[in-house]
Amino acid sequence: MKLDIVKYPEAVLAKECSKVEKVTPELRELVDNMVETMYDDDGIGLAAPQVGESIRLIVIDPSGPKNREEMQVIINPEIIEREGEVDSEESCLSCPSFRCVIKRSEKVTVTGMNLEGEDVRIEADELLAIVLQHEIDHLDGTLIVDRVGRLKRNMYDKKIKKWLKNQN
Ligand code: ZN
Repeated sequence: MKLDIVKYPEAVLAKECSKVEKVTPELRELVDNMVETMYDDDGIGLAAPQVGESIRLIVIDPSGPKNREEMQVIINPEIIEREGEVDSEESCLSCPSFRCVIKRSEKVTVTGMNLEGEDVRIEADELLAIVLQHEIDHLDGTLIVDRVGRLKRNMYDKKIKKWLKNQN
């Protein structure tokens, strides 16, 4: 089932998410729905708070909705090592019509758990490293709009306010 994407500035996106204690049938169902939603919205990653669940869970597929070859589910992901720095051009399903260039680590090592309850360790570079950092940011309540300068952020805030006003 496709889920609704929560959009900025909803409060759940700014909250620190809680750890997942165990893999339950409900969690598996949520994962299925998140994967479907990610592909359907042409995303390459989705974090649980983006569908309103404040838990530490992400799904990613840097090969994109076209190829669907590198899908991974990571529970309680954590960046344990970082190396280098790159400029990364990003957008986010929760921040419509917003693009920006931000600084990211070039390489990251991420640990966590998969849906089988096994420990995983991912050594990532290139797009995979960026997607991981972007999605793990969501679990700490950080959006790309939080990573840009105040001017750009204020402009986006104004745009969003206008949209919300026009919807009502
Ligand atoms: Zn995002």
